[in-house]
Amino acid sequence: MASDRTDTSAVVIGAGQAGLSVSYYLARLGLDPGNDFVVLDRGPGTGGAWQYRWDALRIGSAHRINDLPGLDELGVSFDTADRHAPAKDVVAQYYRRYEDHYGFQVVRPADVLSVENVGADLLVKFRFDGEVGSVSTQTVVNATGTWGAPFIPWYPGLRSFLGRHVHTNDYRSASDFAGQSVVVVGGGTSAIGFLLELEGVAALTTWVSRRPIDFQEDGDLNLEARREAVQLQDDAARAGRALPSIVSGTGVGRTRRIQAGIDRGVLTPRPMFDSIEPNGVRWKDGAFQRADAIIWSTGFRPELRHLAPLKLREKEGGMAVGSGVSFRDSRIFFAGYGPQASTIGANRAGRMIARQVIATLSRLQAAGR
Ligand SMILES: Cc1cc2nc3c(=O)[nH]c(=O)nc-3n(C[C@H](O)[C@H](O)[C@H](O)COP(=O)(O)OP(=O)(O)OC[C@H]3O[C@@H](n4cnc5c(N)ncnc54)[C@H](O)[C@@H]3O)c2cc1C
Repeated sequence: MASDRTDTSAVVIGAGQAGLSVSYYLARLGLDPGNDFVVLDRGPGTGGAWQYRWDALRIGSAHRINDLPGLDELGVSFDTADRHAPAKDVVAQYYRRYEDHYGFQVVRPADVLSVENVGADLLVKFRFDGEVGSVSTQTVVNATGTWGAPFIPWYPGLRSFLGRHVHTNDYRSASDFAGQSVVVVGGGTSAIGFLLELEGVAALTTWVSRRPIDFQEDGDLNLEARREAVQLQDDAARAGRALPSIVSGTGVGRTRRIQAGIDRGVLTPRPMFDSIEPNGVRWKDGAFQRADAIIWSTGFRPELRHLAPLKLREKEGGMAVGSGVSFRDSRIFFAGYGPQASTIGANRAGRMIARQVIATLSRLQAAGR
């Protein structure tokens, strides 16, 4: 389907849940993987961002990992996977089998450096095996997630801290903090998970959050709140604004494990500190907590640096995207972005985006391009 000038019809950047889901539907709609569309992924292995997550994040302690479309053909499901197994291993293994089964031929580790407009086509430049290569294409599906763009808010004294700053994406194991005084920042499930893991390992944990924690009494994420949170994400994406934090819209489910942590006094949040000093953190009222490490569970931003040459960013701070397609350039698709940033959202995006890619290719073909 690629035009005479292009190497391929579509390049999918990223082989996490979103990129694989789009790939599945592109293949179902008749595109040949490796020829009609090419998948490039930076990760050394399969699993998208999951391959980097910490050991203690088990299948049973993740929110819920939804099955990729067509995963049932392999006779496996995340719903029946061992709840005690590290999520990173199970996801990497299932994705590997999925990629092989459907023959996606993901190119990895291929780090996409830029996507550029070259006349009617798009040129995707990437680093592979120490060399910079390129592939020309008619459409691009960006499915790069957020893991590569950790966000740490600025506080006075941030750089003066003599201890360790650790973001969620650097966290490996509670044993790295044995005997230490640890401040955990953030109001979401990652912060809570770390506090529970550090109990009895760290000498002391201090939990701080910018907002009061919105515990949901139904023990699971409140579905109504979740719909609203997805709506907020969609509104922001359509308006080209920076995306709001997910947890600010959903709250945190008061599961039995979390309630037990609250009862033991492990999960007692304090307001956000005001400044950071070389040996700890200080609140406005003068209170001070000595700290060896600060764990920042403060979220991520979409990873979009490589799209800069396309000049898609709005003055409002984000990309204007609706139903997975850029409002500025209808050849650029966003999978797993904003309202789609969950495994279920990424699945839905797959079908919706693949159909639009095919429609765009037909339009380009009809226009003789
Ligand atoms: C700690 C944590 C726990 C979570 N738990 C859950 C959960 O339990 N359930 C749930 O539904 N969601 C969960 N999420 C959200 C989760 O990240 C998404 O659901 C989903 O896994 C994201 O899939 P994705 O394909 O959009 O992104 P990713 O899985 O991040 O995949 C993106 C891929 O793109 C690649 N990439 C990035 N930049 C480039 C580039 N420039 N060039 C080439 N490749 C690139 C990356 O290497 C990666 O392989 C969690 C998120 C976090 C941070």
